Amino acid sequence: MSKYNFIKMQKKLSKYLDEERYAHTLGVMYTCAALAMAYGYDLEAAQAAGLLHDCAKCISGEKKLELCKQYKVSVSDFEKHHSFLLHAKLGACIAREKYGIEDPEVLSAITYHTTGRREMSLLEKILYIADYIEPMRDKAKNLSKIRALAFQDLDECIYEILKDTLEYLKQNPQDIDETTKIAFLYYKELHDKRREGGVK
Ligand code: FE
Ligand code: FE
Repeated sequence: MSKYNFIKMQKKLSKYLDEERYAHTLGVMYTCAALAMAYGYDLEAAQAAGLLHDCAKCISGEKKLELCKQYKVSVSDFEKHHSFLLHAKLGACIAREKYGIEDPEVLSAITYHTTGRREMSLLEKILYIADYIEPMRDKAKNLSKIRALAFQDLDECIYEILKDTLEYLKQNPQDIDETTKIAFLYYKELHDKRREGGVK
């Protein structure tokens, strides 16, 4: 018996997302499943994280702030001015309150899917990567390299994504989140260490 009713969750979610976001969501869900197969993670939990990761994405900035207040989610000044970031934290709340998700690993993967963080858990890495490489994505550079890397080396893949993301954000430095910078430095150090040590 499945722990999650995916059909029911999908039906509900499709009412809250626009067509494009919903298609992206399904891509992320199946990519999470594929990565979970490759790295031996619970398939259902991975798919639940993928399915619900953007559940708060189509809510207006104003409404997001209102809901954060309601759910007692702390909002930093930076997030107040970059309210798109809030869809991650708020999404985790909605996944818990409205979709009945209790698994803390699923909830934290949703919370960190936009910024990443240092020392990510396996599911946090799977979702972060799946969001970047799902089949509908076509804008980022190096996508085919990063897609191949995703199935070879998770930490190296995270490093490449964070590097490209920060480089992309350099065009608007005022929009760079501190958590992403900290995450990048952590995975860069890991990357450099492995290169020095010749550890593969
Ligand atoms: Fe997102
Ligand atoms: Fe997404």
